[in-house]
Amino acid sequence: MRFRSGEFVMIGLLGDPHTETGKQKLLLRAYSISSPAWDETLQFYSIKVDNGLLTSKLQHIKVGVQLILKQKSVGTLVHDALTRANRMWFFSTGTGIAPFASLLREPETYERFN
Ligand SMILES: Cc1cc2nc3c(=O)[nH]c(=O)nc-3n(C[C@H](O)[C@H](O)[C@H](O)COP(=O)(O)OP(=O)(O)OC[C@H]3O[C@@H](n4cnc5c(N)ncnc54)[C@H](O)[C@@H]3O)c2cc1C
Repeated sequence: MRFRSGEFVMIGLLGDPHTETGKQKLLLRAYSISSPAWDETLQFYSIKVDNGLLTSKLQHIKVGVQLILKQKSVGTLVHDALTRANRMWFFSTGTGIAPFASLLREPETYERFN
């Protein structure tokens, strides 16, 4: 999978079977990839929202459980969008620190802005 440091993807799990139809809904949410683009593994940080549809399940997954991961990554917190400055202020909301953790481990961040 190819992505640019700072981008996010949709990840998720199948929800509980519907009581009548047995059908399972796909619970997909946006997650920033906290690994840099050169890394061999994909790392995510996740909040645990009380009664959150996805995270109430996600926090209990064990090794071997299959996650759904959409391969198309997107996002605007990437190098192309950053402008030169003396100081960088971090301000994050729902995405948390994840996209910044990705950019901080990306050599281009230091090469481009030094
Ligand atoms: C571009 C993008 C990147 C994101 N990256 C990350 C990430 O790297 N890590 C991560 O944990 N989440 C991230 N999120 C939020 C994530 O998509 C989910 O919203 C979150 O994981 C909760 O999903 P849920 O199904 O458990 O909760 P839901 O059932 O969808 O929501 C339940 C309630 O929790 C609130 N809520 C949802 N997310 C948060 C949050 N992060 N903080 C406070 N309240 C919240 C909702 O507003 C809602 O009221 C990102 C969202 C976007 C749009």
